[in-house]
Amino acid sequence: KSFKEFNLKEDIEEALNSLKFSMPTPIQEQSLPYSLKGRDIIGIAQTGSGKTAAYVIPILQALWDAQTPYFALVLAPTRELAYQIRETFDALGANMGLRCATIVGGMDMMDQAKELMRKPHVIVATPGRLMDHLENTKGFSLRAMKYFVMDEADRLLEMEFGPVVDKILQVLPRERKTYLFSATLTSQVDKLQRASLINPAKIEV
Ligand code: AMP
Repeated sequence: KSFKEFNLKEDIEEALNSLKFSMPTPIQEQSLPYSLKGRDIIGIAQTGSGKTAAYVIPILQALWDAQTPYFALVLAPTRELAYQIRETFDALGANMGLRCATIVGGMDMMDQAKELMRKPHVIVATPGRLMDHLENTKGFSLRAMKYFVMDEADRLLEMEFGPVVDKILQVLPRERKTYLFSATLTSQVDKLQRASLINPAKIEV
């Protein structure tokens, strides 16, 4: 099996080659046929499975045609994970002029506000700080978002980010694609997926 069968944009194929990603991992192989066709995804997968690229690839594939700002929002439970996700976006989007912003706690609000005003295509954020910007950064909204990802949803909920995630869901457009990834399918995660995904393909690896 290779990435060839997914007919990815050349810019993405070349990035996969430079990263030496020669074969899709199981979560990628099983989810890409659905995500690339526009389906919502619930992925039950551990860190190390290649879950990040599993959602970065379909987002970049769609962004390649659209090239519009504020295209995708990814929520992560921790700053460290947010930075790792951003690295994957930067690496796989290296050939397509991708602009990414990382919005996490502990960094200067004004600097982040400036970054947001540069019209990034992708925002990778921790929920609390993203909410701060939604409430305080003039001109910033999630109205244009076409893709929404909740990564490590079980940890997002363990860290009591549930109410913030609910608020973010309320201000996202209804017409969007949503991906939820979690290491475990707890009853809380199940509730969140029912509230946020539409007819998802469920992939368990
Ligand atoms: P993740 O589960 O997203 O944290 O990814 C775990 C590791 O696997 C990361 O270091 C990725 O760079 C790497 N990785 C992801 N997809 C592939 C692939 N198709 N081939 C080889 N390595 C990969």
